[in-house]
Amino acid sequence: MNRFCQSLLMLACLLLPCLASAQVRFDGNFEGSAFGSAELLDSARLVVAPGDTVEHLSFLINGKYDPDNPIDTTLEPSANWYYFRMTGVKGKQIYLTQKDNGVARTSYSYDGKNWDHLPLAESQRRRIDKRFTRDTVYIALYTPYTYSYHQERLKTWCARPDVTLDTIGFSHEGRPLQLLHITDPTVPAEKKARIWIHGRIHPSESPGSYLVDGLVESLTGDTPQARALRQQIDAYILPFANPDGVANGLSRSNAIGVNQEINFGRSDDSTVVEVKAIKRKLAELTRERPFDIVLNSHSQLAESATFWMHRGRTTTPSYFRKLWTFTGLVCSFNPCIRPEDMNFSDMAPRYVEGWMWDHFGEKTLALTIETTYNCYSFDRDGLWTDNDNIRLFGERTLEAIAEYLGFSVPGRYLIETPARMKAGWEPYRGNDRSFLGAEAWKATRDGAKVTYQLGHLPAGHYALYRFVAGDCVEPDRYDLRDPKTGDWIDPGVHGWVYEGTVVQAHDGRFHYTRKAAAGELADAVLLIRCDTSDK
Ligand SMILES: [Zn+2]
Repeated sequence: MNRFCQSLLMLACLLLPCLASAQVRFDGNFEGSAFGSAELLDSARLVVAPGDTVEHLSFLINGKYDPDNPIDTTLEPSANWYYFRMTGVKGKQIYLTQKDNGVARTSYSYDGKNWDHLPLAESQRRRIDKRFTRDTVYIALYTPYTYSYHQERLKTWCARPDVTLDTIGFSHEGRPLQLLHITDPTVPAEKKARIWIHGRIHPSESPGSYLVDGLVESLTGDTPQARALRQQIDAYILPFANPDGVANGLSRSNAIGVNQEINFGRSDDSTVVEVKAIKRKLAELTRERPFDIVLNSHSQLAESATFWMHRGRTTTPSYFRKLWTFTGLVCSFNPCIRPEDMNFSDMAPRYVEGWMWDHFGEKTLALTIETTYNCYSFDRDGLWTDNDNIRLFGERTLEAIAEYLGFSVPGRYLIETPARMKAGWEPYRGNDRSFLGAEAWKATRDGAKVTYQLGHLPAGHYALYRFVAGDCVEPDRYDLRDPKTGDWIDPGVHGWVYEGTVVQAHDGRFHYTRKAAAGELADAVLLIRCDTSDK
């Protein structure tokens, strides 16, 4: 079919429902939208009660597909993202079947600004069945995080201390690839840990943008904690790795159909300008020193958040253990993710994690984090995503980064395991349990004592947490299910477990002694000030 006939057919698809039901219209004529076409399937007027007639209309919604991938033609274009407007729907019973995409409890908005999930009864996966109370409604996979909104956020962040913005290249359509550099420049770079975070390589995954947003908001904040972190961390953050994809309402590709996510292993002459620019910057920044932590922010259709854990058999057992430790920290104090929500894959050079592994091995902890569009931890009766809880998830991710790196900030003090221990302990260098730091100590008998010390702790009340090492499970499958029984494997608690409250009567030295049970690992403890958080 030639392009002209295709356009006519498209036009007919768009017009037909409008002709059949003059009042209900669909469109995607706004920034970041994604709408294929709508076909009217059926319509009826029903008298639902004496004097009460309701029009019922059902439509088939076709998704908007990414352009064909010119680099790898075996890859099917995707149509995950949808974001369209319906008008003329007030008081009508509308049934939508989304042929190509859709999640349970899809997001909707009557004004394009305030978004919510539809109730489950009205929005099963790929189905919407709803009587709308206003004439105009926006439907989207999740609350959009548009290119314009991103520019506003960058402007806000760049007006704050310790934030600079660098353009590291331009997209296919000429949009800047904007890299935030957040750090206190008065502290020498060699004294700081280095992190790299990028997001939105897949444009449909808007929840991932709220996670990065929450993290940046927290790191650039005017708080003693944020200032202390900026003295300890050199953070490079590229929130939009695929700006054309977001601006054009694409699903997984850039403007010319390429899925940038799986292009990190390609040579410069066989990939796209965005990936080339990102790799060039990564190479430049790591020339002096590798990153300590790299995060790649995504969102997945499954009803849980997750990290993709790269198996020890394709990395090293100790690297795999470090992944468990870090993800255990992120799961602590966090209602959005649990250790059993992890996913597993082999390390491959096509991903940024693979690029990092090939260049720096265990020196860089590189992980993909995925938020979700719907509920957390497969619990439909539990917490559902909203912009606030995803931003808090981002904040918690930043705290976990600091804890993993062994950093304290005012109000949160991390004390590592003592370098030397008394009788009753032996070094533990196994990789089957997660622990913070290079090595842990294992109690050889019940009642073995460990004393944690800090040179200076301000007077106050503190909640004391102990890092508990869970099992480093490496399943054959991509998720934590037993291949024989299909049962979920519980990796146990990984992370901070509440021990009790301690009172520091005066500013000065702090020490805390605890008795362990035989076989227990002694690991770091964390003090969180609970009377006031800003001292
Ligand atoms: Zn993705």
